[in-house]
Amino acid sequence: GVFGLSLSHPLPRDLTRPVHVGGVQIGGGAPVVVQSMTCTDTADAQATLAQVCALAQAGCDIVRVSVPTEAALEGFRTICAESPVPIVADIHFNHKLAIGAVEAGAAKLRINPGNIGDWAKVDAVIDAAGAAGCAIRIGVNAGSLEQDIAEREDLTQPEKLVMSSERFVKHFEDRGFTNIVLSAKAHSVQTTLDTYRALSREIPHVPLHLGVTEAGTKLQGTIKSSVGLGILLSEGIGDTMRVSLTADPVEEPPVAWGILQSLGLRRRGPEIVSCPTCARCQVNLIPIAEEVTERLKNYSAPLSIAVMGCAVNGPGEASDADLGVACGRGQALLFSHGQIIGKVAEDQIVDALMAEVDKLIEEK
Ligand code: SF4
Repeated sequence: GVFGLSLSHPLPRDLTRPVHVGGVQIGGGAPVVVQSMTCTDTADAQATLAQVCALAQAGCDIVRVSVPTEAALEGFRTICAESPVPIVADIHFNHKLAIGAVEAGAAKLRINPGNIGDWAKVDAVIDAAGAAGCAIRIGVNAGSLEQDIAEREDLTQPEKLVMSSERFVKHFEDRGFTNIVLSAKAHSVQTTLDTYRALSREIPHVPLHLGVTEAGTKLQGTIKSSVGLGILLSEGIGDTMRVSLTADPVEEPPVAWGILQSLGLRRRGPEIVSCPTCARCQVNLIPIAEEVTERLKNYSAPLSIAVMGCAVNGPGEASDADLGVACGRGQALLFSHGQIIGKVAEDQIVDALMAEVDKLIEEK
């Protein structure tokens, strides 16, 4: 291929075992699954369901919900019954809540076996999930490694994360439970890269959940996630991903989709090709590009739309796109699949482009 990848060598992603989370497959060569997590009170089932629906609408294939209390478990039952997408229960410390979440309809559990308690409690969770066909993500975290591993001065942080992961995977598999996804999160991008590369080498059959944890607010979190997750995905590593931002969770799936789209791994909705503008540009392009982006927000058709500032790269880019405009002094040429189809005044550019978008979608 163009990037020197030979198809006779399967990507790490293709080697993982398929895991089924409700109707969604993670691993086994399936498209990378996008997920996020609610931040509402789970005991308030209606508020949480509204957020689950908003996240599904924004592009989440599955949604994770925290279940910290008995009251949350009651809400969780309703959420599972009414959600449009499979629901993952996030459980810490309490194996009874984990078993309760399985009974309440969780399609997958996320646990850190290290904080569930002794092995007997972990086994009780494994057996309940096994009987119900519920998947489990083993979520190892740099901040909560088992003491005997955390204390090892001869190991690097990635080595500790891998050792902890291997220990848990082996325990689950020895018990006959193979419906597992694995994550080993750290807030440093470099630790994340080293850890996941080692995991995909050492435990190649287990699907990996990618994330840079505590990545920060919108801009920094987007950058850290894009660099960390983007590099791994470009190497074929990663079967499901969560971008975490200190922001409204509906901000997360568009970033995940942007990463997947940039790498050509998945496509959802239109792609805007727009130039940064420069001294050659003779229209006020930025608000035009922003307005086009905003109006296309809820379109799912995989169109490419070019919004270019001048005649240097403009016509070329506009011609390569499904639709595009190349601006001149106070006006723009409208292109459709390389053909000039009209000339519009600056204040008509967005409306004219959107009319063509709708026409194209109608035709298709
Ligand atoms: Fe400048 Fe034209 Fe390139 Fe936009 S397309 S950056 S206006 S040269």
